[in-house]
Amino acid sequence: TAPLGQSDLNQKIRVCVRKRPLNKKEIERSEKDISPTVGTRSIHINEPKMKVDLTKYIEQHAFTFDDVFDTSDSNEKIYQRTAQPLVDYVFNGGKATCFAYGQTGSGKTYTMLDPEHGLYVLAARDVFSLLCQPQYQHLSAYIGFYEIYQGQLYDLLNARKKLFAREDGKQNVVIVGLKEYVIRSVDDLMKVFEYGSQCRSTGSTGANSDSSRSHAILQVLLRPAKNRKVITGKLSFIDLAGSERGADRGDTDVKTRMEGAEINKSLLALKECIRALDQDKRHTPFRQSKLTQVLKDSFVGRSRTCMIATISPNQSNSEHTLNTLRYADRVK
Ligand code: ADP
Ligand code: MG
Repeated sequence: TAPLGQSDLNQKIRVCVRKRPLNKKEIERSEKDISPTVGTRSIHINEPKMKVDLTKYIEQHAFTFDDVFDTSDSNEKIYQRTAQPLVDYVFNGGKATCFAYGQTGSGKTYTMLDPEHGLYVLAARDVFSLLCQPQYQHLSAYIGFYEIYQGQLYDLLNARKKLFAREDGKQNVVIVGLKEYVIRSVDDLMKVFEYGSQCRSTGSTGANSDSSRSHAILQVLLRPAKNRKVITGKLSFIDLAGSERGADRGDTDVKTRMEGAEINKSLLALKECIRALDQDKRHTPFRQSKLTQVLKDSFVGRSRTCMIATISPNQSNSEHTLNTLRYADRVK
């Protein structure tokens, strides 16, 4: 590992943590911040516990990551240390994925897909300025936006049409029927994205996949303008389903239980696949979930991955926060 404060931005796998501020309701309830001091690469959690005799005590946990972002860190700063190196990498022909993993309400969408300052907007700004440079003028950017709900793919840019994934024999995963838009400006992208986001939250088919139960994937493909069939670079932004949804919560509702089982399966497979990247394993369990199946081409060959684990600061979420940190810790 690099010395503290000097983590390498060009690693194959980066794992970062972002802590959101206490919100108004939590402050009104006088909730405590369970990690009052955060280092640039380390985080301590004070977990409130109770003994059998009901005396309270604090258990401390310490973790180290490639970066830890505190409540005062802007999306711009986070962008520079997470997605920006991936943009450059993709323009050099690579495939890259940036994930937000965490409990519902911890800041995944705010970090990744917020229409004002989410990482995807900041990345788009750089993508379009690179596309204007002479050496990249032959390329076009294509946007696709879909979700995975209960192991099934739905096109968010095409009225949640069902989609299927297959491989093209050249190490590319093809999402058959996915609607792709050529995007020429950040404004273009935001319009398309806004349309897709509405599709995600309302679930026009009545499939009831609120955003905490589905994985949303926004992908940017670079292709030569003259040959749409070729992919020269691929960058994916993924807003994962709420990690707490994958926990066995003893739900009695069959549908909720099945959703939870599916989310659990995909998040476990994701962890295993990213770990395998680092270890150059022969066997990587891509087939274990739809999520890892569609990401397969972003993991094999020239690829990079960045995970941003988002956490809530408050005491009543300490169990979920610790689960998130343990998951992120094991990814690498
Ligand atoms: P998730 O997608 O993980 O369910 P959201 O991104 O929707 O969580 O965040 C929940 C709420 O907290 C939103 O109102 C969001 O604006 C706010 N929020 C999240 N992260 C931050 C942050 N770093 N700074 C300020 N507000 C945040
Ligand atoms: Mg969200």
